[in-house]
Amino acid sequence: MKLQMVDLGGQYRKIQTEVDLAINEVISSSAFINGPKVHSFQRELEEYLGIKHVIPCGNGTDALQIALMALNLKKGDEIICPDFTFVATAEVVKLLGLTAIFVDVDKDNFTIDIENIKSAITSKTRAIIPVHLFGQCTNMEAILKIAKENNLHIIEDTAQAIGANYIFADGKKQKAGTIGNIGTTSFFPSKNLGCYGDGGAIFTHDDALAEKMRKMVNHGMEDRYHYKYIGVNSRLDSVQAAVLSVKLKRLESYNSARIEAADYYDKCFEGNEKISIPKRVNFSTHVFHQYTLKLKDINRDKLCKHLQNKGIPFGVYYPVPLHQQTPYKEERFSERNFLVTNELCKTVLSLPMHTELTTEQMDFISQAILEVI
Ligand SMILES: *Cc1c(COP(=O)(O)O)cnc(C)c1O
Repeated sequence: MKLQMVDLGGQYRKIQTEVDLAINEVISSSAFINGPKVHSFQRELEEYLGIKHVIPCGNGTDALQIALMALNLKKGDEIICPDFTFVATAEVVKLLGLTAIFVDVDKDNFTIDIENIKSAITSKTRAIIPVHLFGQCTNMEAILKIAKENNLHIIEDTAQAIGANYIFADGKKQKAGTIGNIGTTSFFPSKNLGCYGDGGAIFTHDDALAEKMRKMVNHGMEDRYHYKYIGVNSRLDSVQAAVLSVKLKRLESYNSARIEAADYYDKCFEGNEKISIPKRVNFSTHVFHQYTLKLKDINRDKLCKHLQNKGIPFGVYYPVPLHQQTPYKEERFSERNFLVTNELCKTVLSLPMHTELTTEQMDFISQAILEVI
């Protein structure tokens, strides 16, 4: 059985005619940068998300950087980030001369812990970057409240959760990434909405921020060769936009396929006390960018070796907490404030998760895991 962490080839073959046609249209038109395909994708995504402004850009890391650049922050301002996330979230903070303050996460849903945010706030705190990790939203209502009380910006890192619905206490639903001041996402090929190269986008309801960020992605240019801001060169190219338009139409069904696969995995591991399946929270749907188990009293290295021998791919997202990584270490971070992240880094295991998984494949994968336990 040939298994992959993500089966992009299988997914492509089902939409090949449409994708190839869309790409060929771009090539024939020669409108490679800022062409009509980029504008139409932008509008389609605005409509899908229910957001006023989408600003396409080069990748998800740039999206975070540009969001921070737009907020008039100054050196030494503190930005609260989860300790358990992909490095990009904190990397851009440091790159801009800001201070990344890491905060522990919730042991069950892996997103930034609300009580710990409160204790991390100081007079220098300016923003919180909740990361909707593995496909499920952070508790945004709690974060909105904290942000309001402390006058903080919220940038939602939605790279792993595009299409997830946040569910407010009153039942109202809103798409992940559209709740804070700014949302960011990545179209890296393996993300839930992936293109065939690098790509990303920024979302906001705020007209002034949108106008500023739209200039910033293109060197801060206002009129041709007249610059209003220091910007960057970070544009989504038309070939990627063409692919994304074809795939956005299918995002709901792609996410449903992931949810179905996750439910099937759950059943395979049902009743096993050494494995905790991903928790679903009541304030968000889960679009399973990753299907991540927590192992109890299991030697993960031994289990991984066994999976390797059987040709089963797996991932450890993430093996080291950010506060322990060389460029991010600081005296102020005390290990006792990161007990959950430290533990998760030792016990998590992500299984193959994509839109093309079959029940036979999941039976094979889960049996291989249960064999070892
Ligand atoms: C993938 C990812 C990013 C960065 O996206 P790129 O497009 O690869 O730059 C940022 N944050 C999180 C949580 C991610 O998973």
